[in-house]
Amino acid sequence: MTSAAYLSRAGQKVLLIEKNRKFGGLVNSFTRDGFHFEAGVRALENAGIIFPMLKDLNIQLEVVKSHVSVGIENEIIDIESIDDLVKYRALLIKLFPESESEINEVLRIIRKIMKHMDVLYGIENPVFKDLKRDKSFIFKKLLPWLPKFILTVGKINRMNMPVEEYLKTIVNNPSLRDIIAQHFFKNTPAFFALSYFSLYLDYFYPKGGVGKLAEALKNKILECGGELKTETKIVEVLADKCLVRDQSDSSYKYDNLVWAADLKTLYKIVKTEGLPTKIKAKFEETKIGMLQNRGGDSVFSLFLEVDEPLESFRKIANGHFFYTPSKSGLGETHLKELDELLRNFEKIEKEQIMTWLDKFTRLNTYEISIPGLKDPDLVPPGKTGLIISLLAEYDLFKEIRKAGWLDEFTSEMENHMINVISDSIYPMLKDRIIARFSFTPLSIENRVGSSEGAIVGWSFQKSMPVVNKIQISGRSVLTPIPSIYQAGQWAYSPAGVPMSILTGKLAADKVLKKKKN
Ligand SMILES: Cc1cc2nc3c(=O)[nH]c(=O)nc-3n(C[C@H](O)[C@H](O)[C@H](O)COP(=O)(O)OP(=O)(O)OC[C@H]3O[C@@H](n4cnc5c(N)ncnc54)[C@H](O)[C@@H]3O)c2cc1C
Repeated sequence: MTSAAYLSRAGQKVLLIEKNRKFGGLVNSFTRDGFHFEAGVRALENAGIIFPMLKDLNIQLEVVKSHVSVGIENEIIDIESIDDLVKYRALLIKLFPESESEINEVLRIIRKIMKHMDVLYGIENPVFKDLKRDKSFIFKKLLPWLPKFILTVGKINRMNMPVEEYLKTIVNNPSLRDIIAQHFFKNTPAFFALSYFSLYLDYFYPKGGVGKLAEALKNKILECGGELKTETKIVEVLADKCLVRDQSDSSYKYDNLVWAADLKTLYKIVKTEGLPTKIKAKFEETKIGMLQNRGGDSVFSLFLEVDEPLESFRKIANGHFFYTPSKSGLGETHLKELDELLRNFEKIEKEQIMTWLDKFTRLNTYEISIPGLKDPDLVPPGKTGLIISLLAEYDLFKEIRKAGWLDEFTSEMENHMINVISDSIYPMLKDRIIARFSFTPLSIENRVGSSEGAIVGWSFQKSMPVVNKIQISGRSVLTPIPSIYQAGQWAYSPAGVPMSILTGKLAADKVLKKKKN
């Protein structure tokens, strides 16, 4: 959508194709029974990207802060400024008094990383500035910032090891390590994971829901003369003819294609016949890298319509809440134990899975979002809608579906989550639920066509098939085929909404530059 907005604004003839009825993918909201929910990301991080993009495109979006709370067992803190790191330290020390010096060390590192984040996001991302006209930005902001940026990038790259391994070097207590990092994707680079305090402070929420961002971009594309096509799934790309074909066999000719969806899909559906041998060979080599890799973690989201006023929830925590009901930590539950279950799935009894599920839901960290606490217009009066989610493994749901008891498992997972949350942080919840439903990793795969139901692109592995260094992010949008560009969460790692937007802009810039030459 970012690419389409920029290209249409520049006067290019643009067709944006989407397989669903609505645009936005994982930036999406929907309403059910008068309750508003997010289908994907629960709130947005500016990251020096989203607001500059909106300003540059002259898009007005009314937003509020999405204040975060963090809770472990009965201890809850609200995070509203950097000073609240002190509260976080006190919370950890209260729960793990024997680990005070280790906690101090973790906090020291988090503070250091926050300083790096201040540099990284310290100026509006230059990609969204008109550098030819805005000389004052170049001389007053960009040039003084660049040396600091280069220095910081070096420091960040040295903290690229998985957060789990990194924490082992400073924290002995495995429960404490889990509590600090278990709500991150497996093997998240330490720098990215431990920057979460900065990210908590950065969250904002569009009035009317996260989906308003996608709606605003859609309107911008229309305003600039772009053409939109929904319920159109691209199933084939004939690269030599510069043609894409949809599910009904209609075809669309292009000069340049920006593919902003799953990359394994792209590499599977591109036909390279007729292209020069060198390009074909490079494409095949890249394709192997893509197909060998996996999407990262997925998520299980439980949606609840509750007959209880917002105030009852507001008294407990903010509308964006990371909550861990037990300080024990997940340990090997979601790693070795789950791997073993999956490896021997055929021989495993249902009861064993349910026992595992019980532990998984009791020891995990939940992301709880209450849209009504950010915008009260998003719920019927006197009622509250909640989205309660956990990171979840796609393969588990796939195996269970294959074994024919997905509905039963999903319902059990919902029951477990409701019990855990009612027995701990929201005791009023259980008896006040009017309706409930959930999205599994399989629903995500189905909805946005994302490999392994991944929600932020590639899993963090040693051989990343795309660019993962910020200083060369410009290259992330190139594919071996000169007329095809890639953008979005699969084009760069680590990703999320801001990087998806940034790569969208970078791809548009490359196309425009090519058109000029
Ligand atoms: C629960 C949850 C929490 C998250 N939390 C955060 C967070 O805190 N911070 C953050 O930055 N990010 C977060 N994310 C991730 C973020 O939402 C995504 O990384 C980002 O929105 C991806 O955007 P995208 O445009 O690259 O891909 P997508 O949103 O997947 O969009 C791809 C689009 O392409 C369409 N499509 C796919 N295949 C085809 C085809 N063959 N033909 C036509 N159309 C097709 C899809 O339907 C979809 O609309 C979260 C995501 C979830 C689900």
